[in-house]
Amino acid sequence: MWPTLAIFAAVFAIGFLVLWRGERRQRLGEAERHEKTLRELTAKGEQKKLNFRAEQETLFNSMIEGVLVLDGEGQVRLVNDAFQDLFNLHQNLKGRSLMEAVRLHEIEKIYNQTLVVGQVHGYNIELPALQDRSLQVNSTVILDQRSERRGMILVFHDITRIRELESTRREFVANVSHELRTPLSLIKGYVETLIDGARNEPEVALKFLNTIEKHADRLTFLIEDLLTLSHLESGQLVVNPRMTDLKNSVERVCEDLSKKAAKREIDLVNAVGGQVMVAADGDRLQQVLFNLIDNAIKYGRSSGDVRITAAPGEDGFVEVCVADDGAGIAPEACERLFERFFRADKARSRDQGGTGLGLAIVKHIIQSHGGEVRVESQVGTGTSFFFTLNKELF
Ligand code: ADP
Repeated sequence: MWPTLAIFAAVFAIGFLVLWRGERRQRLGEAERHEKTLRELTAKGEQKKLNFRAEQETLFNSMIEGVLVLDGEGQVRLVNDAFQDLFNLHQNLKGRSLMEAVRLHEIEKIYNQTLVVGQVHGYNIELPALQDRSLQVNSTVILDQRSERRGMILVFHDITRIRELESTRREFVANVSHELRTPLSLIKGYVETLIDGARNEPEVALKFLNTIEKHADRLTFLIEDLLTLSHLESGQLVVNPRMTDLKNSVERVCEDLSKKAAKREIDLVNAVGGQVMVAADGDRLQQVLFNLIDNAIKYGRSSGDVRITAAPGEDGFVEVCVADDGAGIAPEACERLFERFFRADKARSRDQGGTGLGLAIVKHIIQSHGGEVRVESQVGTGTSFFFTLNKELF
């Protein structure tokens, strides 16, 4: 009986031990799995946080506006790349006071004003020391949940380009008004003189009427050139490049201008060798050639030559040249020749009915073909205008 009981007890004990160990192992496994999941979740959370921070940093640094964040003591906490570029400050600014960092009293003024009123909007500052930049500053204090000041954020918007465009526009309007007013007041003056009695003297009346016609033509040219420029700039005048025979285009323009050239006994020489094909809008190319050859006739030497040539340029381009043997242009004027309304010789240009817009139109058309224009001139020897056009269509 006893041995049977002992065997039974031993089997029972072993069975219990096996079961207990199995369950323990299972529990340990569960705990390990649980811990592993927890570790994974924590790592994922950390990764998410890091990703979020990286995204925020990228966003902050890709902003066009410069941003400066100050803490409650007015010390730099954060700046973005745009701020550092704008102020040309590439050292570590963290922890510096505002004045130590930027050394600009204007900005200190904005800081103090923001402390008093909470925020400042659209404050414009000029920075002559920083390449004449114009900045617009917006600033606001940072408050915590208890409405206590925790710092300040200042945003700097570079408005230099906008300012420049504004000034160009103002200058343009002033120039146009002046150009329109001059021939108009001359026309009005002659008409009044005719009304007052000059009409009764046929010879004088004819002379006045011719002058009136000349100024009316000047107005017409001006308005035409203004419309062309405006259409080119607004994209209304679409440039449609096709393979165009350069020599033919030059020939046509020379024919159109032959009478004008003959009046000054100028020889127009089409020296474009053979068939040179260029990728250009036919009408626009003729406009470019017309403006350059017309100028060469107007400002060139009477009884002189105007030669049009073409030579291979760089990178698959053809370089066209319109050269005269006139009085030439001073170097300081050459730099500004393609600006609207710029004239090297004001009196001569006005006398010839010039609008001061011809070269600006040339530049615009050539650039819209992907080419470039330039001028070479020597006072007393002559002037050559060059422009490039592609040999192939894209
Ligand atoms: P404009 O209508 O006055 O001719 P452009 O824009 O065509 O206007 O030319 C600008 C100025 O450049 C002219 O007023 C003139 O002073 C100068 N210019 C242009 N072409 C020549 C040239 N071939 N020789 C000398 N001066 C020139």
